[in-house]
Amino acid sequence: MIQLYIPLNFLGVIYREIKQSLTDLEKMFQLLSREREVADAPDAPALAVPHGAVRFEDVRFAYDPERPILHGISFEIPAGKKVAVVGPSGSGKSTLARLLYRFYDVDGGRIRIDGQDIRTVQQGSVRRAIGIVPQDTVLFNDSIAYNIGYGRPGSTQAEIETAAKAAHIHGFIAATPKGYETTVGERGLKLSGGEKQRVAIARTLLKNPPILIFDEATSALDSSNERAIQAELEAAAQNKTVLVIAHRLSTIVDAHEILVMEQGRIIERGTHAQLLAQQGRYARMWALQQAAH
Ligand code: ADP
Ligand code: MG
Repeated sequence: MIQLYIPLNFLGVIYREIKQSLTDLEKMFQLLSREREVADAPDAPALAVPHGAVRFEDVRFAYDPERPILHGISFEIPAGKKVAVVGPSGSGKSTLARLLYRFYDVDGGRIRIDGQDIRTVQQGSVRRAIGIVPQDTVLFNDSIAYNIGYGRPGSTQAEIETAAKAAHIHGFIAATPKGYETTVGERGLKLSGGEKQRVAIARTLLKNPPILIFDEATSALDSSNERAIQAELEAAAQNKTVLVIAHRLSTIVDAHEILVMEQGRIIERGTHAQLLAQQGRYARMWALQQAAH
């Protein structure tokens, strides 16, 4: 009985593993098929970005048609201004960032940059106009220099190092055996979440685009590193159009508008002062974070 039980149990483990792999494959194909939807029309023009104004107009979106994620989101980031998004995990904040970067096309409504619906222009031109520091950075299996320089193809080593210094990752890189030629990623040197985030920040500083998206860009950093890099990000964001998804409210008190999201809807909006005066969800979040310091 015991002898029979062990192999069967073992088979069960293998079965679950295979089933998991199949599920992952399925997810991958779903992602690929969604990816294909973001195809350019053959005659799509390049996006023109004379100012960099961003508008979400009644944006609706679902990864899976059975489960809507965004239920009609409207806001505007005037050129050169900063709009911040806060809210609990799973409320749809990162989805806003992915839609603006055109990882996916919206299911309803539209996103415009300087008046142009981003679905009608070349995807590559949208991505050239936007720098994104995502919540989870995936690095290429290539050198650190490549991973930073990717932000602006053709950059010099000196430009790459300047960006790395601003992102406080130069010292770390210099201390690795091969320096900027060290291979990173799954098949190279594994970096911590904070180190990857700093590489992504360096890449974005180097790219220096008119529109910036920071998706909890410093969430994996310890607080002293975070404060230092926050100053660099603020300098980089001067006169740029910025969508910032914030986990620390103290970094967004100066935002043009703050959107509080919950379950794919904006439940409160206004400036920091207006939201505090409303004494609602934002004011409670603020009080909690102040108490924690
Ligand atoms: P937030 O950034 O506010 O934590 P997200 O925008 O990442 O929220 O996610 C919103 C919802 O969409 C969550 O319920 C999440 O599980 C779901 N979601 C996010 N990415 C995907 C994906 N690639 N496929 C399916 N569902 C997803
Ligand atoms: Mg997120």
